[in-house]
Amino acid sequence: SPRPIKRALLSVSDKSGLQDFAAALHRAGIELVSTGGTHRALVEAGLPVRDVADLTGFPELMDGRLKTLHPKVHGGLLAIRENPAHEAAMLSHDIAPIDLLVVNLYPFEATVARQAPFAECIENIDIGGPAMIRGAAKNHADVTVVVHPEDYQVVLDEIAANDGATTAETRLRLAQKAFARTATYDAAISTWMMGPAGVTMPMFRALGGERAEVLRYGENPHQAAAFYRTGERRPGVATARQVQGKALSYNNIADTDAAIELVAEFPADFAAVAIIKHANPCGVAVGGSLLDAYAKAYRCDQTSAFGGIVALNRRMDAAVAREITAIFTEVIVAPDADEDAIAIVAAKKNLRLLLTGSLPDPHAPGTVLRTVAGGFLAQDRDGADVAAMSLQVVTKRAPTERELADLKFAFRVAKHVKSNAIVFAKDGATVGIGAGQMSRVDAARIAVLKAADAARAAGIDERLTEGSVLASDAFFPFADGLQAAIEAGATAVIQPGGSMRDDEVVRAADDAGLAMVFTGYRHFRH
Ligand code: 5GP
Repeated sequence: SPRPIKRALLSVSDKSGLQDFAAALHRAGIELVSTGGTHRALVEAGLPVRDVADLTGFPELMDGRLKTLHPKVHGGLLAIRENPAHEAAMLSHDIAPIDLLVVNLYPFEATVARQAPFAECIENIDIGGPAMIRGAAKNHADVTVVVHPEDYQVVLDEIAANDGATTAETRLRLAQKAFARTATYDAAISTWMMGPAGVTMPMFRALGGERAEVLRYGENPHQAAAFYRTGERRPGVATARQVQGKALSYNNIADTDAAIELVAEFPADFAAVAIIKHANPCGVAVGGSLLDAYAKAYRCDQTSAFGGIVALNRRMDAAVAREITAIFTEVIVAPDADEDAIAIVAAKKNLRLLLTGSLPDPHAPGTVLRTVAGGFLAQDRDGADVAAMSLQVVTKRAPTERELADLKFAFRVAKHVKSNAIVFAKDGATVGIGAGQMSRVDAARIAVLKAADAARAAGIDERLTEGSVLASDAFFPFADGLQAAIEAGATAVIQPGGSMRDDEVVRAADDAGLAMVFTGYRHFRH
């Protein structure tokens, strides 16, 4: 049953809107109690207000470090109202219930932001405020807690509509906001204490990012950075054992993650290898052995593979270790490695070797985050897998078995290529990848160009795209992208379908004798 608010404790650093709010509370018959500065502001507004020191019988001490940390305050916030034992305790210790708590904290974040001296930042760590907020929020069944001036009006509207009481719904919602506030507050303090690199968004700490590692820098040397581990038990870069090599950089971590997630897509009955540069694969292949797969992946783009990140979907053996270490590689990541393979890698002191124990499950649910100004986006991990899609043949000719295998392979790779993505593949290997283009036709052209470069580098006369298949991460809006594929000699295409011009695109494929399948799933990746 809603009980009217009788007593409010106000203790705010940000005093905006305070006087009007307190005046309205007073008009509603609510007794006001407040701390030093807040008390002065209310007296100034001509409001009757009791000093918290008067309530506790204890003066404010130690430059305000002790203002409200007293059982008379915390008892008034925490007591369960209809609990006889709590009521008895209140009675025998002369504790009066506090029904409404209005607190906003010492401006720690703002103090840090204006680069105040260390001691001043420390003094701006609010202790009593968060303690009261947490107590009131815990006891939201009986207590209303307000931590943002933006919620003053909400409270006034509710007490006007409910005979001086707030609704349980609102108290719960305000309690949730209260804990969010104390969480981000502590996150900001902890992040600041990490030093100059403790820059990265406190929200990640609030989201459960805990074990943080300060990185030398971010994507570029002028950007401070840190690595947060959430404790999620997904095999990958955050939980891997680093066998050797320099510390991982920001870009290494991002690219290693992309690399291991990509090879994890391939069933274990094939050896799969991916080489990643700048978050995009520059070569991916499956084969009978890791050595075979690595050679095919490497051939796709030898130039870009230099300084790349190599991921293996199996225990690394000596043969592939020898081949990988023949060129400059930044990171090798694999589920495990043979002793002799580890010994071969050891000869390259700087090369990082990460062992993840097992592969991440590409279908396991998970969340992907990305910041935007003033917020962040969260979405499910793209768990869609071509193996589970019902592929629809839309051309007169259906793909052959060999084409179909390559189509699925290429679409799996395309999922891990930045959009717009075009992937040419043949015999279980990528032969041309067009990544991150603003137009799909450009992505296709670039993929063809890359394939021509790869053939030249490998001293092969024949076009690598001849008899290849093509995957597109999203539908072709026009037939022009497809035309580039036809000219390059591709014989089959896999794409989501769903364009207004699907008919036109399918007709172009039929005219060229291509086989085309629609997946019904798009794999945008930005
Ligand atoms: P006032 O301006 O009223 O003197 O102080 C208000 C500020 O003091 C609020 O930001 C509130 O969170 C904070 N505060 C209230 N009680 C305590 C306490 O016991 N210790 C500390 N450090 N801060 C407190």
